[in-house]
Amino acid sequence: MRTDKKVALVTGSSSGIGLGIARQLGAAGFDVMLHGLLDLEEGQALANEFTDQYQVRSAFSNADLRDPNEVGALVRQCIDQLGAVDVLVNNAGIQFTERLENFPEQKWHDIIAINLSSAFFAMQAAIPLMREKGWGRIINIASVHGLVASAQKSAYCAAKHGVVGLTKVAAMENADAGITVNAICPGWVETDLVKPQIQAIADQQSLGYEQARAELVGQKQALREMTQPAMLGALAVFLCSDDAATMTGTALPVDGAWTAQ
Ligand code: NAD
Repeated sequence: MRTDKKVALVTGSSSGIGLGIARQLGAAGFDVMLHGLLDLEEGQALANEFTDQYQVRSAFSNADLRDPNEVGALVRQCIDQLGAVDVLVNNAGIQFTERLENFPEQKWHDIIAINLSSAFFAMQAAIPLMREKGWGRIINIASVHGLVASAQKSAYCAAKHGVVGLTKVAAMENADAGITVNAICPGWVETDLVKPQIQAIADQQSLGYEQARAELVGQKQALREMTQPAMLGALAVFLCSDDAATMTGTALPVDGAWTAQ
Protein backbone atom coordinates (compact mmCIF):
# COMPACT_ATOMS: atom_id res chain seq x y z
CA MET A 1 0.00 0.00 0.00
CA ARG A 2 1.55 3.32 -1.08
CA THR A 3 1.77 6.04 1.48
CA ASP A 4 2.95 8.69 -1.02
CA LYS A 5 -0.19 9.45 -3.03
CA LYS A 6 0.27 8.63 -6.70
CA VAL A 7 -2.18 8.86 -9.59
CA ALA A 8 -2.68 6.14 -12.19
CA LEU A 9 -4.45 6.61 -15.53
CA VAL A 10 -5.60 3.32 -17.06
CA THR A 11 -7.02 3.53 -20.58
CA GLY A 12 -9.77 1.06 -21.43
CA SER A 13 -10.44 0.37 -17.75
CA SER A 14 -14.22 0.06 -18.07
CA SER A 15 -13.85 -3.69 -18.61
CA GLY A 16 -11.51 -6.66 -18.95
CA ILE A 17 -7.77 -6.33 -18.39
CA GLY A 18 -7.89 -2.55 -17.83
CA LEU A 19 -10.51 -2.91 -15.10
CA GLY A 20 -8.49 -5.72 -13.49
CA ILE A 21 -5.38 -3.51 -13.47
CA ALA A 22 -7.30 -0.46 -12.22
CA ARG A 23 -8.77 -2.50 -9.34
CA GLN A 24 -5.35 -3.80 -8.25
CA LEU A 25 -3.88 -0.29 -8.43
CA GLY A 26 -6.83 1.07 -6.44
CA ALA A 27 -6.40 -1.68 -3.84
CA ALA A 28 -2.69 -0.74 -3.63
CA GLY A 29 -3.64 2.86 -2.80
CA PHE A 30 -3.25 4.64 -6.14
CA ASP A 31 -5.81 7.26 -7.12
CA VAL A 32 -7.29 6.02 -10.39
CA MET A 33 -8.44 7.77 -13.55
CA LEU A 34 -10.83 5.33 -15.18
CA HIS A 35 -11.58 5.40 -18.88
CA GLY A 36 -13.57 3.52 -21.51
CA LEU A 37 -16.55 3.56 -23.80
CA LEU A 38 -19.28 3.76 -21.16
CA ASP A 39 -21.74 6.63 -20.94
CA LEU A 40 -20.66 9.25 -18.42
CA GLU A 41 -23.25 8.24 -15.82
CA GLU A 42 -22.15 4.59 -15.80
CA GLY A 43 -18.49 5.66 -15.74
CA GLN A 44 -19.07 8.00 -12.81
CA ALA A 45 -20.83 5.17 -10.95
CA LEU A 46 -17.73 3.01 -11.47
CA ALA A 47 -15.50 5.84 -10.20
CA ASN A 48 -17.74 6.19 -7.11
CA GLU A 49 -17.45 2.46 -6.53
CA PHE A 50 -13.63 2.80 -6.59
CA THR A 51 -13.77 5.62 -4.05
CA ASP A 52 -16.01 3.57 -1.73
CA GLN A 53 -14.19 0.27 -2.13
CA TYR A 54 -10.54 1.40 -2.11
CA GLN A 55 -10.74 4.80 -0.33
CA VAL A 56 -8.93 6.47 -3.23
CA ARG A 57 -9.85 9.40 -5.45
CA SER A 58 -11.23 8.38 -8.82
CA ALA A 59 -12.58 10.05 -11.96
CA PHE A 60 -13.82 8.85 -15.34
CA SER A 61 -13.53 9.80 -19.02
CA ASN A 62 -15.06 8.27 -22.12
CA ALA A 63 -12.64 9.85 -24.61
CA ASP A 64 -12.62 8.10 -27.99
CA LEU A 65 -8.96 7.22 -28.43
CA ARG A 66 -9.21 7.01 -32.22
CA ASP A 67 -8.81 10.82 -32.08
CA PRO A 68 -5.34 12.05 -30.94
CA ASN A 69 -6.92 15.26 -29.61
CA GLU A 70 -9.11 13.20 -27.28
CA VAL A 71 -6.06 11.25 -26.09
CA GLY A 72 -4.35 14.51 -25.11
CA ALA A 73 -7.57 15.75 -23.48
CA LEU A 74 -7.79 12.52 -21.43
CA VAL A 75 -4.30 13.04 -20.00
CA ARG A 76 -5.08 16.71 -19.27
CA GLN A 77 -8.37 15.75 -17.57
CA CYS A 78 -6.48 13.33 -15.32
CA ILE A 79 -4.00 16.07 -14.37
CA ASP A 80 -6.80 18.63 -13.83
CA GLN A 81 -9.04 16.34 -11.75
CA LEU A 82 -6.52 14.19 -9.88
CA GLY A 83 -3.41 16.40 -10.00
CA ALA A 84 -0.92 14.21 -11.89
CA VAL A 85 -0.30 11.20 -14.12
CA ASP A 86 2.36 9.25 -12.22
CA VAL A 87 1.39 5.89 -13.72
CA LEU A 88 0.13 5.55 -17.28
CA VAL A 89 -1.28 2.21 -18.38
CA ASN A 90 -1.96 2.15 -22.12
CA ASN A 91 -4.42 -0.72 -22.28
CA ALA A 92 -7.38 0.21 -24.54
CA GLY A 93 -7.57 -2.02 -27.57
CA ILE A 94 -9.81 -3.76 -30.06
CA GLN A 95 -9.51 -6.88 -32.19
CA PHE A 96 -10.74 -7.87 -35.64
CA THR A 97 -9.83 -11.04 -37.52
CA GLU A 98 -9.76 -11.46 -41.29
CA ARG A 99 -7.27 -12.44 -43.97
CA LEU A 100 -5.05 -9.55 -45.01
CA GLU A 101 -6.43 -9.24 -48.55
CA ASN A 102 -10.01 -8.96 -47.23
CA PHE A 103 -9.22 -6.81 -44.16
CA PRO A 104 -11.58 -3.76 -44.09
CA GLU A 105 -9.65 -0.50 -44.46
CA GLN A 106 -11.50 1.21 -41.60
CA LYS A 107 -10.73 -1.68 -39.22
CA TRP A 108 -7.02 -1.33 -40.06
CA HIS A 109 -7.14 2.39 -39.25
CA ASP A 110 -9.13 1.87 -36.02
CA ILE A 111 -6.84 -0.88 -34.71
CA ILE A 112 -3.68 1.11 -35.44
CA ALA A 113 -5.23 4.25 -33.87
CA ILE A 114 -6.55 2.64 -30.68
CA ASN A 115 -4.00 -0.15 -30.08
CA LEU A 116 -0.84 1.75 -31.12
CA SER A 117 -1.14 5.48 -31.82
CA SER A 118 -3.13 6.25 -28.65
CA ALA A 119 -0.23 4.87 -26.57
CA PHE A 120 2.17 7.17 -28.44
CA PHE A 121 -0.01 10.26 -27.94
CA ALA A 122 -0.75 9.47 -24.28
CA MET A 123 2.97 9.07 -23.56
CA GLN A 124 3.70 12.31 -25.42
CA ALA A 125 1.21 14.12 -23.18
CA ALA A 126 2.20 12.45 -19.88
CA ILE A 127 6.00 12.21 -20.06
CA PRO A 128 6.82 15.94 -19.60
CA LEU A 129 5.11 15.99 -16.17
CA MET A 130 6.68 12.67 -15.16
CA ARG A 131 10.12 14.03 -16.13
CA GLU A 132 9.47 17.19 -14.12
CA LYS A 133 8.64 15.03 -11.07
CA GLY A 134 11.56 12.64 -11.69
CA TRP A 135 9.31 9.60 -11.30
CA GLY A 136 6.97 7.71 -13.59
CA ARG A 137 5.74 4.28 -14.56
CA ILE A 138 4.43 3.52 -18.04
CA ILE A 139 2.93 0.10 -18.73
CA ASN A 140 1.84 -0.71 -22.25
CA ILE A 141 -0.48 -3.67 -22.65
CA ALA A 142 0.84 -5.29 -25.80
CA SER A 143 0.19 -9.00 -26.40
CA VAL A 144 1.93 -12.19 -27.41
CA HIS A 145 1.06 -10.72 -30.81
CA GLY A 146 3.72 -8.09 -30.12
CA LEU A 147 6.23 -10.97 -30.19
CA VAL A 148 4.84 -13.56 -32.59
CA ALA A 149 2.14 -13.64 -35.27
CA SER A 150 -1.15 -15.41 -35.85
CA ALA A 151 -2.99 -15.65 -39.17
CA GLN A 152 -5.92 -13.24 -39.69
CA LYS A 153 -4.48 -10.64 -37.29
CA SER A 154 -2.45 -8.37 -39.59
CA ALA A 155 -3.53 -5.05 -38.08
CA TYR A 156 -3.44 -6.35 -34.50
CA CYS A 157 0.05 -7.87 -34.89
CA ALA A 158 1.34 -4.74 -36.63
CA ALA A 159 -0.03 -2.58 -33.80
CA LYS A 160 1.23 -4.81 -30.99
CA HIS A 161 4.71 -5.26 -32.50
CA GLY A 162 4.67 -1.45 -32.76
CA VAL A 163 3.77 -1.12 -29.08
CA VAL A 164 6.76 -3.29 -28.11
CA GLY A 165 9.12 -1.15 -30.21
CA LEU A 166 7.61 2.08 -28.88
CA THR A 167 8.06 0.79 -25.33
CA LYS A 168 11.79 0.21 -25.89
CA VAL A 169 12.38 3.69 -27.32
CA ALA A 170 10.42 5.42 -24.54
CA ALA A 171 12.36 3.38 -21.95
CA MET A 172 15.69 4.47 -23.38
CA GLU A 173 14.74 8.12 -23.72
CA ASN A 174 13.49 8.36 -20.13
CA ALA A 175 15.94 6.16 -18.25
CA ASP A 176 17.62 9.32 -16.94
CA ALA A 177 14.46 10.60 -15.22
CA GLY A 178 13.21 7.87 -12.88
CA ILE A 179 10.68 6.68 -15.44
CA THR A 180 10.34 3.03 -16.41
CA VAL A 181 8.48 1.86 -19.49
CA ASN A 182 7.51 -1.77 -19.93
CA ALA A 183 5.17 -3.83 -22.07
CA ILE A 184 3.08 -6.73 -20.78
CA CYS A 185 2.42 -9.38 -23.43
CA PRO A 186 -0.52 -11.55 -22.38
CA GLY A 187 -1.63 -14.74 -24.09
CA TRP A 188 -5.32 -15.59 -23.75
CA VAL A 189 -7.08 -13.52 -21.09
CA GLU A 190 -10.71 -14.09 -20.11
CA THR A 191 -12.41 -10.89 -21.41
CA ASP A 192 -15.05 -9.69 -23.87
CA LEU A 193 -12.36 -9.15 -26.52
CA VAL A 194 -11.84 -12.88 -27.07
CA LYS A 195 -15.51 -13.93 -26.93
CA PRO A 196 -16.08 -13.58 -30.72
CA GLN A 197 -13.05 -15.83 -31.33
CA ILE A 198 -14.43 -18.48 -28.93
CA GLN A 199 -17.87 -18.24 -30.56
CA ALA A 200 -16.32 -18.64 -34.04
CA ILE A 201 -14.71 -21.95 -32.99
CA ALA A 202 -17.96 -23.07 -31.35
CA ASP A 203 -19.82 -22.36 -34.62
CA GLN A 204 -17.19 -23.88 -36.94
CA GLN A 205 -16.72 -27.08 -34.92
CA SER A 206 -20.24 -27.40 -33.47
CA LEU A 207 -18.88 -27.23 -29.91
CA GLY A 208 -20.34 -25.83 -26.70
CA TYR A 209 -18.87 -22.52 -25.50
CA GLU A 210 -16.72 -24.10 -22.75
CA GLN A 211 -15.31 -26.73 -25.14
CA ALA A 212 -14.59 -24.07 -27.73
CA ARG A 213 -12.72 -21.98 -25.15
CA ALA A 214 -10.54 -24.97 -24.19
CA GLU A 215 -9.88 -25.64 -27.87
CA LEU A 216 -8.87 -22.00 -28.49
CA VAL A 217 -6.47 -21.89 -25.54
CA GLY A 218 -4.96 -25.29 -26.34
CA GLN A 219 -4.18 -24.30 -29.95
CA LYS A 220 -1.53 -21.83 -28.73
CA GLN A 221 -0.74 -22.28 -25.03
CA ALA A 222 1.06 -25.23 -23.41
CA LEU A 223 -0.69 -24.26 -20.17
CA ARG A 224 -4.34 -24.58 -21.09
CA GLU A 225 -5.79 -21.89 -18.83
CA MET A 226 -6.73 -18.33 -19.54
CA THR A 227 -5.00 -15.63 -17.50
CA GLN A 228 -7.36 -13.58 -15.30
CA PRO A 229 -7.27 -9.75 -15.48
CA ALA A 230 -6.43 -9.52 -11.75
CA MET A 231 -3.21 -11.48 -12.35
CA LEU A 232 -2.05 -8.83 -14.82
CA GLY A 233 -3.10 -6.20 -12.28
CA ALA A 234 -0.77 -7.76 -9.72
CA LEU A 235 2.10 -7.57 -12.24
CA ALA A 236 1.29 -3.92 -12.93
CA VAL A 237 1.40 -3.14 -9.20
CA PHE A 238 4.83 -4.79 -9.02
CA LEU A 239 6.08 -2.74 -11.99
CA CYS A 240 4.97 0.39 -10.10
CA SER A 241 6.91 -0.59 -6.99
CA ASP A 242 10.40 0.55 -6.01
CA ASP A 243 11.58 -3.07 -6.40
CA ALA A 244 11.00 -2.71 -10.15
CA ALA A 245 12.93 0.58 -10.43
CA THR A 246 15.57 -0.85 -12.79
CA MET A 247 13.21 -2.97 -14.83
CA THR A 248 12.62 -1.02 -18.02
CA GLY A 249 12.35 -1.58 -21.77
CA THR A 250 11.04 -5.11 -21.29
CA ALA A 251 8.27 -7.04 -23.03
CA LEU A 252 6.96 -9.51 -20.44
CA PRO A 253 5.00 -12.54 -21.68
CA VAL A 254 2.22 -13.85 -19.42
CA ASP A 255 1.14 -16.50 -21.85
CA GLY A 256 1.07 -20.11 -20.62
CA ALA A 257 4.28 -20.81 -22.60
CA TRP A 258 2.72 -19.65 -25.91
CA THR A 259 5.91 -17.82 -26.98
CA ALA A 260 8.24 -20.43 -25.40
CA GLN A 261 7.63 -22.77 -28.33
P1 NAD B 1 -12.09 -5.40 -23.50
O1 NAD B 1 -12.90 -5.38 -24.74
O2 NAD B 1 -12.66 -6.02 -22.27
O3 NAD B 1 -11.62 -3.92 -23.11
C1 NAD B 1 -11.25 -2.97 -24.08
C2 NAD B 1 -11.27 -1.59 -23.47
O4 NAD B 1 -10.89 -0.64 -24.50
C3 NAD B 1 -12.67 -1.17 -23.00
O5 NAD B 1 -12.56 -0.40 -21.83
C4 NAD B 1 -13.18 -0.31 -24.14
O6 NAD B 1 -14.15 0.65 -23.75
C5 NAD B 1 -11.88 0.37 -24.58
N1 NAD B 1 -12.00 0.87 -25.96
C6 NAD B 1 -12.33 0.18 -27.08
N2 NAD B 1 -12.40 1.02 -28.14
C7 NAD B 1 -12.10 2.26 -27.68
C8 NAD B 1 -12.02 3.56 -28.27
N3 NAD B 1 -12.29 3.77 -29.56
N4 NAD B 1 -11.69 4.61 -27.48
C9 NAD B 1 -11.46 4.42 -26.17
N5 NAD B 1 -11.52 3.24 -25.54
C10 NAD B 1 -11.84 2.17 -26.30
O7 NAD B 1 -10.73 -6.13 -23.94
P2 NAD B 1 -9.46 -6.67 -23.11
O8 NAD B 1 -9.26 -8.07 -23.51
O9 NAD B 1 -9.52 -6.28 -21.70
O10 NAD B 1 -8.30 -5.84 -23.85
C11 NAD B 1 -7.50 -4.88 -23.20
C12 NAD B 1 -6.13 -4.86 -23.87
O11 NAD B 1 -5.48 -6.10 -23.68
C13 NAD B 1 -6.17 -4.62 -25.37
O12 NAD B 1 -5.12 -3.75 -25.75
C14 NAD B 1 -5.93 -6.00 -25.94
O13 NAD B 1 -5.36 -5.95 -27.22
C15 NAD B 1 -4.98 -6.56 -24.92
N6 NAD B 1 -4.89 -8.02 -24.89
C16 NAD B 1 -5.99 -8.80 -24.65
C17 NAD B 1 -5.85 -10.18 -24.62
C18 NAD B 1 -7.01 -11.09 -24.35
O14 NAD B 1 -6.85 -12.32 -24.53
N7 NAD B 1 -8.13 -10.61 -23.89
C19 NAD B 1 -4.60 -10.76 -24.84
C20 NAD B 1 -3.50 -9.93 -25.08
C21 NAD B 1 -3.66 -8.57 -25.09
